[in-house]
Parts: sequence; C-alpha cells; structure tokens
Amino acid sequence: MDPVASAPQPVEAREPSAATTVVGVIGDPISHSLSPLLHNTAFSALGLDWVSVGFPVSSGHAQVAVSGARALGVRGLSVTMPHKEEVAGLVDRRSPSADRLGAVNCVSFEAAATIGENTDGAGLVAALRRGARFDPEGCRCLVIGAGGAARAVIDALAGAGASEVIVVNRTRERAEVAAALARGVGRVGLAADVVGCDLVVNATPIGMGARTAGALPLDPTLLSAGQTVVDLIYHPFETEWLHAARQRGAVTSNGLGMLIHQAAMQLAIWTGLEQPVEAMWAAIRSVGAVEPAS
Ligand code: NAP
Repeated sequence: MDPVASAPQPVEAREPSAATTVVGVIGDPISHSLSPLLHNTAFSALGLDWVSVGFPVSSGHAQVAVSGARALGVRGLSVTMPHKEEVAGLVDRRSPSADRLGAVNCVSFEAAATIGENTDGAGLVAALRRGARFDPEGCRCLVIGAGGAARAVIDALAGAGASEVIVVNRTRERAEVAAALARGVGRVGLAADVVGCDLVVNATPIGMGARTAGALPLDPTLLSAGQTVVDLIYHPFETEWLHAARQRGAVTSNGLGMLIHQAAMQLAIWTGLEQPVEAMWAAIRSVGAVEPAS
C-alpha cells in the first residue's frame, strides 16, 4: 500500500508507537551517522511524533531497501555513501539538482510517486549564508575535488549566482566533468588560481585520517585574509589546513554547517515545516562538537 503524505500535526513528545511516522538513513557504514540525531532533534523541536532510524544497507542493496521502505510506510529516506548514485536511478522523479548530479541524498515517498532530491550543495550554501555570513552571488569560488561532495557544491554555487567556479582536482578528466556542472561559469584550474578567490572549499578527504597524514589539499600560504575558507571535513573539527587558513586571517568553517543544513532541508521536504536549525546545532554540540574557532 502506498504511504499517503499528510500534513504533520504537532503532538506532545512521546515514545514511538504504531502511529509514529518513520524516516530512515541508509548507508554503509551507518552507525557513526549523525543524521538520525539531527532529524530526531528536529522532530522533537517541532513536536512531531516522528522518528529517524539508521539502517545499514550494504552496497548493491539500495533497490531492495528503497522498495522495502516504501512497502513499510516509511515517509522518507536520507541516503548516504555508497548509495546516492544508485538511488538516483530508482526514484520516479528527481529534482533538477539531483538530476544534474545523478545523485540523490533524500527520498520522499509520496502517494503517487517516489521523489529523489539532493540537498548537499544547497546545504553548504545555506550554511555559508547563515553561519559564515557569505553569499556566493557574484563571487569567485574555488573548489578542491571533483567527487560527489565537490560536484554538489559546484552545482549549488553556480545556482547561487557565483561569477566563477574554479575546480582543482588530482584527476583532470573528473575536474572537467565537475566544472561543467557550473553551467557556463565553471572551469578547471590550478592551485595558484586561489589568489583572488572569495571562497575556497576543500571537498577532498585530505586531512581526515591517517591515510592523508601530512598532506594538505592546497598550499595554505596562497590563502589570505578576507577569503572565506571551508573544509567539508568535520572530523577532526579543524583540519591542519583549516587551522593554517585561520592563522592567515581567513574566515573559516568546517563541514558541520553543511551537514546540519542538508539534514534540515531533508526535514523540510518531508514535513513541509520550518527547519529548527538552532536546535540541531545544539544537538551537535551536546555530542562533543564545538563552534568553529573563527
Ligand atoms: P569522493 O567522491 O571519493 O571524492 C573524493 C575527491 O577527493 C576526488 O576528487 C579525489 O580526486 C580527491 N582526492 C581523494 N584523495 C586524494 C588525495 N590523496 N590527493 C588528492 N586528491 C584526492 O568523496 P566525497 O564523497 O566527494 O567526499 C569528499 C569529502 O567531503 C570527504 O572528506 C567527506 O567526508 C566530505 N563530505 C562532507 C559532507 C558534509 O556534510 N560536511 C558531505 C559529503 C562529503 P580524484 O578525482 O583524482 O580521485
């Protein structure tokens, strides 16, 4: 039976019951995911009898997970690694950004159709506007990386009116594909192009773990005061590169803002309600993360 979307009604906080609306987070691995915490905090802040649960779904099993979730009356799915591309091929309709990216991070089970959207890039733009007080409109931006996260950011920066989106990536062919997402304002560049950019985003995993120890995504001595510098990594909270950028006077942010805003946008898609972003930030702080230092 198709789940029928209906306007959610605020209720007193209570234990999940047979009437509780369920959303899922699918990925592999999933146990580390902060998304259920973010969603559940938001549901609670909105007084909704909804719950978000993580489901470990291994590679190649997205199709059965999506059809199973629909059959179970799950309201929506947040989709993370490694399923975003596969799920894009499983939905009935895609939003324009999900269509351009060929990747879906949010599934909404409507009565007549399964809809796929992608809130990753828009999440970063919202975080920039709200947290870093930076509006990409008319700005020169440089994105390091050309993977899934980079492509979402490039697409969204172009959509937000950036005057130029320069893509710097280890593999040139992938950079070219990614730069094309910027729809006329994108080009492949070199690290030296960072001079004069308003926004610099690291969308590679360099700085995240032991595997990239000692490496930096871009020479930080090329960065300067007045630039806004974002590292999509949030574990560690401040990478060596982000620290160096802050030391050089740049306004810096880690990836928590993007994480929170992409989750808040998923919530808005499912519920149609206002996004309780402050409560979601508080939940992140409560599990040990702190505000950006600059
Ligand atoms: P991905 O699809 O695997 O892409 C990784 C990109 O980084 C590729 O462009 C790759 O270059 C480049 N890269 C990887 N290792 C490199 C190295 N040693 N030297 C130079 N370039 C290297 O990964 P992704 O999903 O886009 O994620 C990228 C980062 O964003 C990760 O750190 C992830 O945790 C973070 N992220 C954060 C959020 C958030 O909400 N804050 C959301 C999504 C992702 P090639 O093209 O040459 O392989």
